[in-house]
Amino acid sequence: GDAKASNFLRQIIETDLAKGTYTSRHWAGSPGDAAHQAAGQPDPAKIRTRFPPEPNGYLHVGHAKSICLNFGLARDYGGVCHLRFDDTNPEKEDTEYVDSIIDAVKWLGYSWEGKGGSHLYQASDYFDFMYRAAESLIERGHAYVDEQSAEDMRANRGDFNTPGKNSPFRERTPAENLARFREMRDGKLPDGAAVLRAKIDMASPNINLRDPAIYRIRRATHHNTGDKWCIYPMYTYAHPIEDALEQITHSLCTLEFEDQRPFYDWLLERLNEAGLLASPPPRQYEFARLNLTYVITSKRKLAQLVNDKRVSGWDDPRMPTIVGLRRRGYTPEAIQLFAERIGVTKSDSWIDYSVLEGCLREDLEHKAHRAMAVLDPVKLVMTNWGEVFGSDDHLETCTQPALPHSAIAEGETPPPDRVFMIGKAVWIEREDFEEVPPKGYKRLFPGNVVRLKGGYVIECTGCAKDADGRVTEVHAKVIPGTKSGTPGADSVKAKAAITWVGVADGIPAEVRLYDRLFSDPHPDAGGKDFLSALNPDSLKVVQAWVEPSLAAARPDDKFQFERHGYFVADRVDHGVGGKAVFNRVTGLKDSWGK
Ligand code: ATP
Ligand code: MG
Ligand code: MG
Repeated sequence: GDAKASNFLRQIIETDLAKGTYTSRHWAGSPGDAAHQAAGQPDPAKIRTRFPPEPNGYLHVGHAKSICLNFGLARDYGGVCHLRFDDTNPEKEDTEYVDSIIDAVKWLGYSWEGKGGSHLYQASDYFDFMYRAAESLIERGHAYVDEQSAEDMRANRGDFNTPGKNSPFRERTPAENLARFREMRDGKLPDGAAVLRAKIDMASPNINLRDPAIYRIRRATHHNTGDKWCIYPMYTYAHPIEDALEQITHSLCTLEFEDQRPFYDWLLERLNEAGLLASPPPRQYEFARLNLTYVITSKRKLAQLVNDKRVSGWDDPRMPTIVGLRRRGYTPEAIQLFAERIGVTKSDSWIDYSVLEGCLREDLEHKAHRAMAVLDPVKLVMTNWGEVFGSDDHLETCTQPALPHSAIAEGETPPPDRVFMIGKAVWIEREDFEEVPPKGYKRLFPGNVVRLKGGYVIECTGCAKDADGRVTEVHAKVIPGTKSGTPGADSVKAKAAITWVGVADGIPAEVRLYDRLFSDPHPDAGGKDFLSALNPDSLKVVQAWVEPSLAAARPDDKFQFERHGYFVADRVDHGVGGKAVFNRVTGLKDSWGK
């Protein structure tokens, strides 16, 4: 592929590799990893990254950026990338999401099988370690059990301009704290009655260092650990430990975690001093999250679209979820290309949706077989057909290449030609006939000569209309001896070539014309009501005629419908009850806003 563009993360990694920052690190014997059983052995991977989703929803295009970044860097620098479920929040998590995330990462083309075995982890497997680490912090005077009311705790935290106030529980002895923490663990205290807090600095200008909570009481069944625990670690405490146990070298996260980095470092330093974690510790680096125009990526708001039935489900082809993009017809290659093209930066910006569409076109241009489809059909009858061919039922065979010449690499065998029939009647697009042509119109109007693409040259003679003046049939004369690919094909000059499908062999299809879900480029910016920004025309369903080569289409197969754009056979509905169903992925050109 293309040479990879450098970015600040690549530079950091290259510097670490050159300095050997992590070459002296040896396995610390972390839980959950077969390879870690070789404790004391040098780490076989040069760098370690991770993609750490919380299994509380479906992944979206923003996650795809993070997946491509983390797995891509590991691949490029001889490292490994872990898929880790950050499952420390039992109420919101579910195995349904675990399975969908595994599917999504695999579909995007990445694997966590690599050096030292499989790197699929769940944070909840480390709950025992996290608990022991918390006791160690308590014993060493770095944590205390706080029993202030939630309101007092909030008030005493202070704010940006005001330093916080120490809790009256802050000076408990380690022995008192340890006893109380064990009571929390043993279910002696009700939910919300106490939290364990790191003891750092209530006057810190960084509010995240004002004695952050690290454990809370929550009687909730966890999808992995069941009812074993009634206390759960807070994300900010769990995450650095997960990274350290898995020997992550570069822990990449989005910019909103920048203010958490001092706590990340504080915690790992304390646990290293206690001899619990190996050194050097992982380092956190922040990059800008993906903001894509016309798209929302908040899980909560996406869930609202599903629950309010504004879309058909998480995999509705208009959804920015990975399952939605997949059903829409996006390919893993296009999404990888997109991630590479947008790169990573340290400041927030908006990426135009057309960049994503452009990547899809680039990927499919050389892959998607061509086909003709008529989306708004009107019948065209060649009135002299019987005279010319001896019978009104006569059919002529036409062929066209499945891929254009430019799409075939040198030495590659082109796929077999498409074969279809032309007869007395064909379907054409309604917009390809005008009884009174506007200026510059080159398609069908009485007296004009056009080619039926891949078939014959015809001369338009008129039309038939119903009582309302609507055209019901277009009439033309076929010009003998002009069939594409035959010696006389160019004997008559045509003003235009139009697409068509034979009435004799065309197959009916439902075509779903998707457009953007929102008509506002920033549907949820500045507290806007994103539901009022929904595009009322984001889905139009039409009954179309498509050429017979599409009878062989399997769900998920992609095509270029000539002149209309890229389409995919719907992975859920295509073929059900013998019905053909195609989704429009995107048009042929960037026509948005034009
Ligand atoms: P929430 O925290 O509300 O559940 P989330 O979108 O942050 O939602 P996570 O499961 O925490 O979901 O995300 C997993 C990883 O994906 C994180 O490392 C996060 O930084 C990254 N990520 C999430 N959204 C984006 C985005 N829009 N662009 C880039 N990376 C993202
Ligand atoms: Mg999260
Ligand atoms: Mg998050």
